[in-house]
Amino acid sequence: MRKLQLEHITKTYKSGELVTALNDVSLTFRENEFVAVLGPSGCGKTTLLNVVGGLDRYDSGDLIIDGTSTSQFRDSDWDAYRNHSIGFVFQNYNLIGHQTVLQNVEIALTLSGVSASDRDHLAKQALAEVGLSDQLEKKPSQLSGGQMQRVAIARALVNNPDVILADEPTGALDSHTSTQIMEILKEISKTRLVIMVTHNSKLADRYANRVIQLLDGAVESDSNPPEEYHSATDVQNDKSRFKKTSMSFATATGLSFKNLLTKRGRTITTSIAGSFGIIGIAVVLALSSGLSAYMASMQTDMLSGFPIMISTQTQRFDRGIEGFFGSGSGSYVSYPTDDIIYNYNSNENQREHTNVLSDDYLAYIAKMTDALPNAVSAITYQRGVTMNLLAKTSDSVVRFETRGSGGSGMAGMGGGSYWQEMPENYDFILSLYDLIGEGSRLPNAKNEIVLVVDEYNRINTNLLNQFGLDKKTYKLSDFIGKTMLKVIDNDDYYTKNGDLFEAARPAEYLSLYEGSGGVELTIVGILRIKEDAASSYFSQGFVYTTALTAYVVDSAKNSEIARAQKTSDKDVLTGMPFADENAKKTRLRSTGADTTPSGINIYPVDFAAKDSIKAYLDDYNEGKPEASRVVYTDMAESISDMTATLVNTVSLVLIGFAAISLLVSTIMIGIITYVSVIERTKEIGILRSVGARKKDISRVFNAEAMIIGLLAGIIGVATTYLVSIPGNMLIVSIAGISTIIALNPLHALILVVGSVILTLIASFFPSRGAAKKNPVEALRSE
Ligand code: ADP
Ligand code: MG
Repeated sequence: MRKLQLEHITKTYKSGELVTALNDVSLTFRENEFVAVLGPSGCGKTTLLNVVGGLDRYDSGDLIIDGTSTSQFRDSDWDAYRNHSIGFVFQNYNLIGHQTVLQNVEIALTLSGVSASDRDHLAKQALAEVGLSDQLEKKPSQLSGGQMQRVAIARALVNNPDVILADEPTGALDSHTSTQIMEILKEISKTRLVIMVTHNSKLADRYANRVIQLLDGAVESDSNPPEEYHSATDVQNDKSRFKKTSMSFATATGLSFKNLLTKRGRTITTSIAGSFGIIGIAVVLALSSGLSAYMASMQTDMLSGFPIMISTQTQRFDRGIEGFFGSGSGSYVSYPTDDIIYNYNSNENQREHTNVLSDDYLAYIAKMTDALPNAVSAITYQRGVTMNLLAKTSDSVVRFETRGSGGSGMAGMGGGSYWQEMPENYDFILSLYDLIGEGSRLPNAKNEIVLVVDEYNRINTNLLNQFGLDKKTYKLSDFIGKTMLKVIDNDDYYTKNGDLFEAARPAEYLSLYEGSGGVELTIVGILRIKEDAASSYFSQGFVYTTALTAYVVDSAKNSEIARAQKTSDKDVLTGMPFADENAKKTRLRSTGADTTPSGINIYPVDFAAKDSIKAYLDDYNEGKPEASRVVYTDMAESISDMTATLVNTVSLVLIGFAAISLLVSTIMIGIITYVSVIERTKEIGILRSVGARKKDISRVFNAEAMIIGLLAGIIGVATTYLVSIPGNMLIVSIAGISTIIALNPLHALILVVGSVILTLIASFFPSRGAAKKNPVEALRSE
């Protein structure tokens, strides 16, 4: 029975002009014989071998293998055929340079799914047959030509194929080494079919038992054709006897990994280049999560103490959303080209609102503590009552002016005032301010006050001048424990004169100060804004207790001037009628006749509690007409909104940059995979010649890209973690804020996976191109 039968095989190449490489070739080969194919260069010898070996496709005719027609073969059948039935030996050896001798031989077994231990055993056995047992771990480049060709023969033999196809195996060898190779092939031909192409007719005549001469793609002579001839009618179409090959993903990864190891420098460079994009994204993520975490802790730590404020001062609000998005929008178009000027009233776009703190509303607020027991920490009320304050200098007593020009307090909180009330929420104050100086403490009685200095321990000259203090510097102890201010009761301060009341004159100040009434105020501590405070709460000056307010409200309420003002339509100080209701209300408040609050501060327990407080306040306004609504201000929210917007904007810009760098590095990885494909074209050919499928080839390159992607991801994430250590230390030393760069481990994981996915995408086209490469052309490349 014949192993191999060519029936009228024709093969034409169509690159430029038509070349008929094989022209109606019909040949039958015995199961085991040593066939030498001779012929001038270009006569089609290599083409014949490639067609027989399934590396190249014939155009017409049929190749019958063991009685099976190949006319219906699909790619996978050819792959399986090459892997199981064919062993190729090439003139230029075609070994994979970055693999050892043993690995080069094992590769075909790997594809046919032989277990690792069998692989090792079979490969060593094949290498022993060609006399190379002692060279297993060498690289091809460390071997002589004859040794390399013996490795190639061992590789061809290892799968125990039926046919060995050798294309000018001795073409590059000296005559002595050629003889060795011929002896080996002769030995092999005892058990299988060996078809050898050669130029050397002497070797052919000496070793082969059949010589076929080719000329211009046709058989010119055949020295020993088989006698019997099987007609094509016996041919069957059963392809199932060829077991399909498959390369495991692990093998592909292993191959790529070894290849990458041999190009260590380039692999690392590529991965580092690929990691830049990852580092960019990672740093941005780390920064924004760090900043957000910082914001959150700042909100709870520092901003939570800021009260929700309800003021009776008239406030202006922008009307609707168009006011928010910039002045002059609405129905107006910016940069009009028309010849037009609009008459525009800006006040129409704003609305004024004055909160009226009705008894109803005050009752509603008073119920809040019970309604929201876990949200409200304290509620304080501002009173419009005037405190009659006298300041003692070294030699006289003057009226203390509470309005200062300097200082930097929060707007709407009596900014620029030297005289402010301390909220009862002391924890809040101590979260923003440090007590400095020996014995410094917070006040806890009506006769105790504290002094607030700025971050440089400065006090405004205007304030000091009121006490006659004009030295350049003072000691903290010059203030702590000192008594320099006194509150005078209304009845002592105002004297009745007919229907009118008269305030004390400067000449009377000293005796008032030394008199028994009123409250002498002692400075018990000095407050200074903390370095990391989110915002200040007080301006420079003095801070008094709510106990003092309560005392003054109480004493003023029953004072003579208050009672007189209550019943009079005129201002009891000037004797003039009031300009309007508001003016009257203000006077009633300042004399103490009206004790309704001029403002309310609500202190939440923590930042989260604010929401329920605001919801409670909003509930009151529900369904009420505009005029009866009470609006509130949440200063902390404005601060944190502002910061959050800033963080988001910065993050967005950074993410944009990072995305660009990620894109660039993805493209780069694609290009590098492409270059790698070109560099490894030969290897693709070798792998295909031992039976690798197209799929296996793309797997090898995808695996390579995956390893690079993984490395890039790990390098990127690791670098980010490493950089974040000195980065955070730097930020601490510059801004005093800790752990701003904090890469979330989940983000890190996503980034590594993302990097792998991106590089896989980037390598998709190059590796598909590699898979599509024609194996014959691939083998011919250098
Ligand atoms: P040999 O091995 O006998 O020197 P080949 O089988 O390599 O000859 O080539 C036979 C003919 O086919 C030659 O004329 C060669 O130029 C041509 N040929 C071989 N391969 C290709 C190809 N891939 N594309 C175009 N022409 C080819
Ligand atoms: Mg050739």
